[in-house]
Amino acid sequence: MKRRTFFKLGVLGTALTFVKPSKAGELISSTVSDPNFGSVVISTWDHGLAANDNAWKVLGKGGAALDAVEKGVRTTENDLSNRSVGIGGRPDRDGHVTLDACIMDERSRCGAVAYLEGIKHPISVARTVMENTPHVMLVGAGAKQFALDYGFPKVKSPLKEVKQDWKEWKKEHKEVFEKPVINHENHDTIGMLAIDDKGNLSGACTTSGWGYKLPGRVGDSPIIGAGLFVDNEVGAACATGLGEAVIRIAGSHTVVELMRQGKSPEEACKLAVERIIAKHEDLEGLQVGFLALNKRGEYGGYSVYNGFNYAVTDDNTGSKLVDAKSDRNW
Ligand code: ASP
Repeated sequence: MKRRTFFKLGVLGTALTFVKPSKAGELISSTVSDPNFGSVVISTWDHGLAANDNAWKVLGKGGAALDAVEKGVRTTENDLSNRSVGIGGRPDRDGHVTLDACIMDERSRCGAVAYLEGIKHPISVARTVMENTPHVMLVGAGAKQFALDYGFPKVKSPLKEVKQDWKEWKKEHKEVFEKPVINHENHDTIGMLAIDDKGNLSGACTTSGWGYKLPGRVGDSPIIGAGLFVDNEVGAACATGLGEAVIRIAGSHTVVELMRQGKSPEEACKLAVERIIAKHEDLEGLQVGFLALNKRGEYGGYSVYNGFNYAVTDDNTGSKLVDAKSDRNW
């Protein structure tokens, strides 16, 4: 049965939920859809095209969504010319590149790292936290020690050219050493959502956060429910943009819950964006974009301002870049 036929049947027509007894704390629910459903991967911004290509190397061969999203966003973390993801990213106000990432799978397992320095693949450290500890999130020095203990190599950051840019920036922004401000100069997290041919959903999110942020600042990207949320019975969502605004409405969780209530992915993203708009008096520079993918492989996005786009790869159309809808001009 191909995806189009499946649409007509609806989610409940073919999805089965298996529940088994469990030990305390063990996750028990997993939902399986029609195996001929087809796979889809979506990810934020145009760097998502290259990331989707690598994710598709897993999905296209019948691999798991979890493996696909990890492999996909590692592509962006590997790109040292990217100034908003990975160790090529811009540093904080004091010159430290601190990385945030999280990952979540179809069993609602999740892992995250925040304020991680000198490690090239925070997303894989997040997955290691998920798979090898009873915890969800490790931060700072503890996260770094954990990564080193698990054999992740130490890398030098910031890169020479990034450090040079930061020095220039510092000269021109003396005021940020006097009072905390949000810098709107650089962003573009990669958030990726995928559904595999077994109907399982997973997501990943990784960023260096806002360029020249206040030291110690952690954004939405490593926070489960804010930068990313997956519920295998319903769908998945991720966010990019001003993390503080996303955290305030538990953005990605909100989008998934709206889909649970019957909204399409685009409608759910739009309603979450409207909630952000309603809660902020001053929208100047406040860009947030949400992406969502539901259990039927339908996807959509919406942003506060126009200019947010995302990459889509699926069985039917290959890869394309889509402009998210928005009601406001940047
Ligand atoms: N959401 C990220 C943060 O606040 C940045 C971005 O995606 O633009 O750190």
